[in-house]
Amino acid sequence: MQETTARAGDILLLKEGEVVLKGLNKRYFEQKLTQNIRRRLKPLGRFVVTATQNVIYVEPQDSEADVDAAFEALQNVFGIMTMTRAVACEKDADVICRTAMEYLDGELRAAKTFKVESKRSDKGFPMTSIQLSQYVGGEIDEAYDNLTADMHDPDIIVHLEVRDRAAYVHGAPVPGAGGMPVGSNGTAVSLLSGGIDSPVSTYMMAKRGLRIIPVHFFSFPYTSELAKEKVIDLAKLLTRYCGRLFVEVVPFTHIQEEIRAKCPEEYFTVIMRRFMMRIADRIAVDNGCGALVTGESLGQVASQTMEAMRCTEAVAELPVLRPLVGMDKEEVIRIARRIGTFDTSILPYEDCCTVFTPRHPCTHPKLEKVEEAEAGLDVEALVQEALDGREMIKLDPRKMEELR
Ligand code: ATP
Ligand code: MG
Repeated sequence: MQETTARAGDILLLKEGEVVLKGLNKRYFEQKLTQNIRRRLKPLGRFVVTATQNVIYVEPQDSEADVDAAFEALQNVFGIMTMTRAVACEKDADVICRTAMEYLDGELRAAKTFKVESKRSDKGFPMTSIQLSQYVGGEIDEAYDNLTADMHDPDIIVHLEVRDRAAYVHGAPVPGAGGMPVGSNGTAVSLLSGGIDSPVSTYMMAKRGLRIIPVHFFSFPYTSELAKEKVIDLAKLLTRYCGRLFVEVVPFTHIQEEIRAKCPEEYFTVIMRRFMMRIADRIAVDNGCGALVTGESLGQVASQTMEAMRCTEAVAELPVLRPLVGMDKEEVIRIARRIGTFDTSILPYEDCCTVFTPRHPCTHPKLEKVEEAEAGLDVEALVQEALDGREMIKLDPRKMEELR
């Protein structure tokens, strides 16, 4: 990895990930990716983003454009496999050569074998790419006693590119975020609580190319404004990966009170979760989504047994995606730490589920029994009332200084 500070004129080279595997859809995926990149770079200055042969070039247009911030922001953009920062210099063979030796000096000293690879998109440059590689390779060979040229399996490859605005030198790339461009696989509603799991499940499905609409069920005054703030904070953190998010906050108190008044206690949780599914499903269908996403993991709590999952998903029209279903809590926590949501998730808060937790929940509910248990409720009216009372909060990473 190169520890270098960007100078005005440096560019970024991004290698596309799975996007390249998509055959006929490649152009569509690539367009999504470049669109997502452009959006992310908008607040950071003027950049030109172009894709050629599975490499996306990000070129700053003036000295105001913040290349450091761009490099950091793009590390969270899905669909990028590797990223390289390239240093700019004058389009002159000697200057290119000197720049390469300065910029990659550390790596060149540490290596035993090397190779120079050149690309030339400015056909006005007086040397061919082969001539440039040979020239710079010869100079490096002479300058470093430790190095010999190796065309097949070198320790280091010195990359040179002669482009319209300038020439560029770069070495080894660093890993990008991987995955597929957000939006390239459609949109889903993700049920986002204030816990550890659902921010991780949201992240994971965004990584698989879904645009996400987060839905949160809010039980004021059983849960406080602070509990809601916490969920909004989690969603803000997720905009780094998901891009712009419109969070739907749905009032859930009346539904919970009705369940408590009219249903047998052992079914409280599963009936409550069926309401969450119905409402999320309606929001999803209205927004043209293809699925729902939850942070459920098999057996983690009473409401996450196979039988309970069957009872909850029975009311949803769309498929329910559960990316954490086979994961241990430890694995989920590791991801939560890596993506930066863990510390917010563990802040003390009341959860709408804990407020109404039955003493002895039914862990293996039967669908017919659950349907019987909720027969006294006016399901449709409660769902409609909750939908009518919902609030939408728009979160745009471009407008959040702290997230750049
Ligand atoms: P989490 O850590 O995500 O809160 P959990 O282990 O606490 O999950 P449950 O409370 O049973 O598990 O919730 C299972 C899933 O249901 C959550 O991962 C989330 O997708 C959804 N969910 C639970 N409570 C809410 C809520 N208040 N608003 C939106 N979704 C919720
Ligand atoms: Mg929870």
